[in-house]
Amino acid sequence: MNSLEGKNAIVTGGSRGIGAAVARKLAAAGADIVINYVSGADSAARVQKDIEGMGRRCLTVAGDVSVPADAKSLVEQAIAAFGRVDILVNNAGVTRDNLIMRMTEEDWDKVIAVNLKGTFNCLQAVSRPMLKQRGGVIINMASVVGIGGNPGQANYAASKAGVIGLTKTAAKELASRGVRVNAVAPGFIETDMTKDLNSEYSDKLRAAIPLGVFGQADNVADVVAFLVSDSASYITGEVIKVDGGLFI
Ligand code: NAP
Repeated sequence: MNSLEGKNAIVTGGSRGIGAAVARKLAAAGADIVINYVSGADSAARVQKDIEGMGRRCLTVAGDVSVPADAKSLVEQAIAAFGRVDILVNNAGVTRDNLIMRMTEEDWDKVIAVNLKGTFNCLQAVSRPMLKQRGGVIINMASVVGIGGNPGQANYAASKAGVIGLTKTAAKELASRGVRVNAVAPGFIETDMTKDLNSEYSDKLRAAIPLGVFGQADNVADVVAFLVSDSASYITGEVIKVDGGLFI
């Protein structure tokens, strides 16, 4: 694994699922970690314990990424604790699935607020210090449905398509000061977010995946660990699918 020794990373939504796997993976590569979560203090504390067990520093920060002041405070607390932020992984996300005809305004607004505005809020908050220090890496968690769409997920697909546009724009705006911005687009990954699928739909979905299995949070974390490392120093504005071939 490429070393992240001496680097500091913020992982939003790092208390569970993909974010927790990313936090552990970056810590295993040598980074100190700030874990953000919105309500899962116990889960965040468990991840923190694992990371401290690896000999790394770890701070947990509660905050709602959809609130600009919370995003700003997250970055400020990270800098106060560790001196600087080298890596931001914008991973926090939610779903509120329904067909367009039945989707409520509340469900539309919630998903756009957390997934898209939340990603913007944290990216904006970290941009100034990263531009000042002339370096940094930002990873935004998109989804293959932001590329291909998915019935029942108009709000979620729109939020993730927005994240892809935001990623490409930020990559162009920040590149001249040495800040790279990329997106990772997972397919179907087994986490709390996907655990409630009925078995008929889940069998159909598995059959559509060329590699024949659902993804694990670690599969996504491995790609994030590569993208934030110096091995990816010439990659920016890219969207990497991690989907077992589902959206080939
Ligand atoms: P998950 O298991 O449901 O975990 C979601 C995480 O986001 C939790 O840590 C949660 O914190 C945090 N979070 C939710 N709302 C937040 C807010 N307003 N502010 C701060 N943190 C918040 O989800 P996951 O499956 O790991 O998904 C992680 C990311 O990958 C999401 O962006 C998701 O859209 C994307 N993704 C997932 C899949 C998949 O198949 N699982 C596929 C494509 C993309 P609490 O513990 O405090 O609730």
